[in-house]
Amino acid sequence: MGTTKTLRTLLPAEDKHTMQSLEANPGKEMRRNVSLACTECQRKKTKCSGTAPCTRCATSAQQCLYDQTSDRRRKEYTVGLFKFHTTLCQLAATLRSAAPEELLSLVWQVQSLPTDQEAIDYLVQVLG
Ligand SMILES: [Zn+2]
Ligand SMILES: [Zn+2]
Repeated sequence: MGTTKTLRTLLPAEDKHTMQSLEANPGKEMRRNVSLACTECQRKKTKCSGTAPCTRCATSAQQCLYDQTSDRRRKEYTVGLFKFHTTLCQLAATLRSAAPEELLSLVWQVQSLPTDQEAIDYLVQVLG
């Protein structure tokens, strides 16, 4: 389905709003993790400089290690970003190729959701 290339009508302004929030959302999660402490500082609950090695470990001549959770988090973030990109591509393809009625029902669905995040989840589910 969705093979008819008769997209004439422009979508209402709400769609633009949705696109903007789609774009704005990953940026919100892109915050620097400055509170990351090495394993030694975490264990001793001391303030960590966050360098490699950190000042504490350097002065006490200890091996400075950072646990991998931040790395995993970054990987999860990358996967999320990839998924987001795929969804956006799918959305563009759908907007270009779907029949206006299909788009209308898609827009209705999106508009019926209470939050932008739920709208994004819905789009990921439908298009991804
Ligand atoms: Zn440290
Ligand atoms: Zn350290």
